[in-house]
Amino acid sequence: MKFDKVIIGNIVLPDLNFLGEIGVNDGKIVEISKTTGVLEGQDVYHYGKDFVFPGFIDAHVHCYSNPNEGIKRASYAAAKGGITTFLDMPYDLPVPVASVEVLKKKIETINREAIVDIALWGTIPKEDGAKVIDELADAGVAGFKLSTFETDPYRFPRIADADILEAMKKTGNRDLVIAFHAENDELLTRYIKDAQAENHLEPIYHNLTRPPVTETTAVIKLLDMASWADAKLHIVHVSHAKSLDYINWFKQQGTNVTAETCYNYLLLTTEDLKEQGPKAKINPPLRQPQEVRELEAQLLDDSIDFITSDHAPWQKADKSIGDADIFKAKSGTPGLEIMIPLLFDHLVGNREVTVSHFADLLAFAPAKRFNLINKGSIETGKDADFAIIKNSEPWKVDENSFLSVSDVSPYHGQQVDNRIEATFVRGQLVYSHSTGVKEQATGRFVKPNE
Ligand SMILES: [Zn+2]
Repeated sequence: MKFDKVIIGNIVLPDLNFLGEIGVNDGKIVEISKTTGVLEGQDVYHYGKDFVFPGFIDAHVHCYSNPNEGIKRASYAAAKGGITTFLDMPYDLPVPVASVEVLKKKIETINREAIVDIALWGTIPKEDGAKVIDELADAGVAGFKLSTFETDPYRFPRIADADILEAMKKTGNRDLVIAFHAENDELLTRYIKDAQAENHLEPIYHNLTRPPVTETTAVIKLLDMASWADAKLHIVHVSHAKSLDYINWFKQQGTNVTAETCYNYLLLTTEDLKEQGPKAKINPPLRQPQEVRELEAQLLDDSIDFITSDHAPWQKADKSIGDADIFKAKSGTPGLEIMIPLLFDHLVGNREVTVSHFADLLAFAPAKRFNLINKGSIETGKDADFAIIKNSEPWKVDENSFLSVSDVSPYHGQQVDNRIEATFVRGQLVYSHSTGVKEQATGRFVKPNE
C-alpha cells in the first residue's frame, strides 16, 4: 500500500515511544509501523531520531484580547510552536462570543485565515446570561468560559452566583465543559484599593494584592456549586497547590472537574515579577518560589490535568504603561510559539517527565476533556496532526521576532535547547524550521464529537 505521506521518527504514543513510521492518507493516520523502511509513500519525511509528537493542543488562547493579533497571526504562532489545535477564548474586543451571530463570524474567519485547527469557547452575558447556552452549544462551541472576577463589565464580566448555577446545570446537560477564571473579586478589589491608597505601585504589589486566598475562595465555591449542579467543571490557570488540593478532594468525591495550570506558573516566580515588572504581570499572579515548587510537585504527581499558555498577545505599549504603576499594565503574556519548547526543556529535560506524559499533558488530556475526538494522540483513524521536536538545538527567545503580533515576553533572551522542527495539520506541513510557515489557510473550525 502506498501512502500520501510517510513520517519517520521517534514516535510518541500514550505509553511508549519508538523509532518507527506513520502512514497518512487524506489527512488521517492509517498505519503505524514499529520498524522503519516498511511503509511506502508519495512524500516521505525523514526526521531521524527527532520526536514525532501528536500535534499539541492549547486550550487557553486569547486571539482578540488585542485585535491586532486576530486568528491569522495567532495561527502562524501556533504552527511555529508545534500547536496544531487551539481553543480560543470568548472575551474578544470589541464584542464577546455570547451570541450565535458573533460565533458564526468567528467561525468564518477561522475557515478563511487559520493555518491550524481551532475550536471555540463561548460565554454568557452578565445579566440573565444562561439563555444563550443552548443555541451556542448547537452551533458548536467546545465549552463555556465564565469569570468570578470582573476584568471588563461587558466583555469579561463577573457572573453572579445564581447565573453561575443555572449555567452549570445547562452546560452539564449538554455534556459541555464550563470553565472559570477563579479569583475572588471582592477581596482583590479591596486589596488593590488599599495598595493604591498607600501608593504601593511597585510590581510585587500585583502579587501582594492577589494572595492565594483570592484564588482558593473562588475555587472552592465553584467546586461546591458544580457538585450540586452536576456540571462538567474546569478551572483555568490554577496558580496554587492549595487550589489543587480542593479540586482533587472534590474529584475523589465524584465531582466532574479538571484543572489546568499555565506554563508561566511552572517557569516563573515572584522574583521574575520583581525583576521584569509589567512583562511578568499575569492573572492570577506569579507565586513565591516555594509555592511554585509545590505546584510542580502536584504536576509530577498527576494532580494537574493539562497545561495551557493563556496566550495574550500584548505589545510593548500595553506593558510599558505600567512601568511606574503595575496596576496600569495589561495582564498576560504571549505563549503559542514558545510554550512547548520551554516546557520540553523544563519537564522532559530537567524533571525527567517521560515524552508520553508530556504528550498527555499537552495533547491527549485536553482533546479528551473537550471531546475533540479526532485529535490528541497518534492512533489510526485520527487526524494526522504532528509536532516534530528536535532536541539539543540551542536558540534564544527573541521577543522582537515573534510571528504573533506580540513583542514582549518575560523569557526574552532565555536559551532553549530544543526546537520545533516541523508541524503537520491533517497531513499538511504547515510549518518547518527551514521554510517557515505555509501561509495557505488550510486550518478549520473544530467542533466537539466531530
Ligand atoms: Zn485567559
